[in-house]
Amino acid sequence: MGSNRHMSADSRGGHALEAGRAIVPSSESPASSRPLSPLSMRRASLMQEPVLVLNATYEPINVTAVRRAMVLMLKGVAQAEELHNAEVHSAAHSHRVPSVIRLLAYRHIPQQSRALSRKNILLRDRNTCQFCSRVFPSSELTLDHVVPRSRGGRSSWENLVACCYQCNNSKGDRTPEEAGLKLARRPRPFTLHTSRQLMRLIGHRDDRWRKYLFY
Ligand SMILES: [Zn+2]
Repeated sequence: MGSNRHMSADSRGGHALEAGRAIVPSSESPASSRPLSPLSMRRASLMQEPVLVLNATYEPINVTAVRRAMVLMLKGVAQAEELHNAEVHSAAHSHRVPSVIRLLAYRHIPQQSRALSRKNILLRDRNTCQFCSRVFPSSELTLDHVVPRSRGGRSSWENLVACCYQCNNSKGDRTPEEAGLKLARRPRPFTLHTSRQLMRLIGHRDDRWRKYLFY
């Protein structure tokens, strides 16, 4: 799929595909300590369901939450391409909840706009230690400089990997070769390609996403 123009997902607007955060909208605040009724709890979790965002060209570019997707639709920025079976009800109306939306105007996706952060490195590496290939919860992973900082290794997408504490200790201040460790794969920037793999992982639950993601 060729073109490098679309390499990286958009991180503006706080709805980038940082899967965790994208699915839980930041505007969601525990406004009241009053216990929610079962109905509004259902509604609250429905509003956080993931929605696939397509560019005007039908290229998948993002995952957001139902709440955010409906705001984009109300603003006339996006339209629903696929609908959920679920509905949300307001006082006067009921709305089918979108599963896939499409931006009405083409949005240029800048290259490598994704922030270099611990969270994004772990997301890129799927919480897998890049030396022993085991999967860990985020709390049990650290970031390893492949070329140690003491040797001039930079903090960059290409030089930072998810690493368990055990491997991190045994590697110490050495290169992987010196420590007898091998990288599971060469670390690369978090691109739209990477994002698309993650979108596929999320989209496995939702058949409506398939035709946009599996080609
Ligand atoms: Zn490890």
